[in-house]
Amino acid sequence: MANNIVSYDVVVVGAGNAALCAAISAKENGANVLILEKAPFHKRGGNSFFTDGAIRFAYKGLDAIREIIPSITDEEAKHINIPTYEESDYYADIMKVTEGKSDSTLASQLVSKSYETIVWMKNNGVGFELNENQLFEKEGTRHFWGGLPVKTYNKGVGLIKQLNQRAEELGIDIWYESQAIRLLTNKNNHISGAVVNKAGEEVTVKSGSVVLACGGFEANREMRAKYIGEEWKSAIVRGTEFNIGDGHTMALAVGAQKYGDWSGCHSIGTDYNAPKVGDFNKPGDIFKKSSFPLGLILNKDGKRFVDEGADFRNYTYAKYGKEVLKQPDHTAFQVFDEQNYPMLRKEYKLDEATVFKANTLEELADYLPVNKSQFLETIYEYNAAVQEGKYDPSVKDHKGTEGITPPKTNWALRLEKAPFYAYPVTCGITFTFGGIHTSENGEVLNANEEAIEGLYAAGEMIGGIFYENYPGGSGLMSGAVFGKLAGVSAAAHSLKKKEDAIY
Ligand SMILES: Cc1cc2nc3c(=O)[nH]c(=O)nc-3n(C[C@H](O)[C@H](O)[C@H](O)COP(=O)(O)OP(=O)(O)OC[C@H]3O[C@@H](n4cnc5c(N)ncnc54)[C@H](O)[C@@H]3O)c2cc1C
Repeated sequence: MANNIVSYDVVVVGAGNAALCAAISAKENGANVLILEKAPFHKRGGNSFFTDGAIRFAYKGLDAIREIIPSITDEEAKHINIPTYEESDYYADIMKVTEGKSDSTLASQLVSKSYETIVWMKNNGVGFELNENQLFEKEGTRHFWGGLPVKTYNKGVGLIKQLNQRAEELGIDIWYESQAIRLLTNKNNHISGAVVNKAGEEVTVKSGSVVLACGGFEANREMRAKYIGEEWKSAIVRGTEFNIGDGHTMALAVGAQKYGDWSGCHSIGTDYNAPKVGDFNKPGDIFKKSSFPLGLILNKDGKRFVDEGADFRNYTYAKYGKEVLKQPDHTAFQVFDEQNYPMLRKEYKLDEATVFKANTLEELADYLPVNKSQFLETIYEYNAAVQEGKYDPSVKDHKGTEGITPPKTNWALRLEKAPFYAYPVTCGITFTFGGIHTSENGEVLNANEEAIEGLYAAGEMIGGIFYENYPGGSGLMSGAVFGKLAGVSAAAHSLKKKEDAIY
């Protein structure tokens, strides 16, 4: 490294899923690649490391799933039902949860490239397995519902391990404790590299292109307050502490156009005692509390505030976190009884789960910091409002309530069988929706919608895909689709520049 200056064809900022996909694809396309990661080695992997690994893509039935999980035997296949999830289903789901606001070009790209990207990931060593959180068993057959039957093998931990292994095999350099601090431009505002703080030393990396894949600004308290709202200062950060909007700041400094829902984010109800920022020793999304559609959610005043059964959790969990944040002390209690307890997701039964258990509702209320009489009244009123009907948690059963506000639209069972359980939750922010504008090639656009030559983005950095809410499993898929795309484009751009310089 002469005078702290090095050269690469492509610099990728970040080492999460989007960045690693970008780096691998740039390398496959002939570029010499450097990854810059701000975190130390033992905190590598970004938010992607913390995930459950659920990944949403379009597929044609079980045959398409067996292509990427070849370990499913013929015998097992006979007892598995995985309905086709068409590209049009995926697109409709995105539009449904974003209230039609998702950029149609980006959403179409995400959907149409999803399956080919999954196959590409598999060919690059990423393992997949069936997503046991999305199935119910009926008469000996395992029915997978909701278009999300697959997870990366061993969750986000496995995904990051496998992508890093591949990057290493391909000879991609990775610098840890290396924060990109500024983009370099030439006199035409074309990108010519990045300045890096490499463990306290400033290094200039010259390159034909830079891919920004360094996450959102969810771990930045001030940016959360500025863009999403003051109350967001109090949210727990579910993932990495390093996503503080560096990529947004660097991109805006060279004229990138802000894009998407800067006042929006993905957030969920998470264990009240979860770490304040993601603990790299406790990955796997173990603090989430997503079985609320089976029970009730009450605040400290003893009141309900959402329709717990409005839809399957995949379509509501990402917006109900925000509702919890609005409650007194940003706290709520998910309440269940013995009838629904066996159906709760496994996170509810881990040692890390905070839970109160009692033999009567009155005793349960005594344990909780709630307005006891209102808490009990709300539950009694709810019990009285529950309508008859066939209870079936595998479909929207329309077994609801009548005469209470908010209603519970599906899966309404009376809370009446001891023991009773209450899980305290608060709001955990997952990632921010606001980002920068990119073209169909993954190039970053300026305010005039012109490409900033040599600058690309992927993953949480891209704005315009998610608004209001998002269909579970789309974050990883978006990172992979747009990471791969940015890698192809960045490599082509840098190699062309090199060739032009020679001839
Ligand atoms: C607890 C949890 C569970 C989730 N579960 C799922 C799930 O099951 N399925 C799903 O699809 N999505 C899930 N998500 C969302 C998903 O994690 C993200 O959408 C996705 O991982 C984003 O990938 P990314 O590569 O853009 O960002 P990240 O994976 O966050 O990577 C960004 C990287 O950039 C680095 N960085 C930041 N600034 C700099 C800088 N200046 N210089 C160098 N490096 C920098 C960070 O350290 C980090 O390593 C979950 C998120 C969390 C937190």
